[in-house]
Amino acid sequence: MSDKISKTKQEWQAELSPEQYRVCREKGTERAFTGQYWDNKEKGLYRCACCGEPLFSSDTKFDSGTGWPSFWAPITAENVATETDKSLLMARTEVLCRKCDAHLGHVFDDGPNPTGLRYCINSASLKFDQDK
Ligand code: FE
Repeated sequence: MSDKISKTKQEWQAELSPEQYRVCREKGTERAFTGQYWDNKEKGLYRCACCGEPLFSSDTKFDSGTGWPSFWAPITAENVATETDKSLLMARTEVLCRKCDAHLGHVFDDGPNPTGLRYCINSASLKFDQDK
């Protein structure tokens, strides 16, 4: 697959808000309970804020109590990538958009059924398309 999106720092900065740039391109984290979508209960599709790739469905969203949008699965496994993140003392698994390498958040193994996974995602990395 060679449909990867690659842009320069300047190009991303021109397209994204400062908060989106900090989170998506510099692996930042938005403050809990401040993002646009942690409490969003509408039906729809969450796309990558950087490239529009479909990432998560409202069907897998759940209230984790963390203050970040939380999902128990991505929309398809092919659309997200994971990497080990050792930036804190505890090793975590980073979640990225496969298409444009945007930092999305982290995945933990304390989620609900049926997967037991908790994708803890920054609102700043997402763009919500509400079902019509
Ligand atoms: Fe993307």
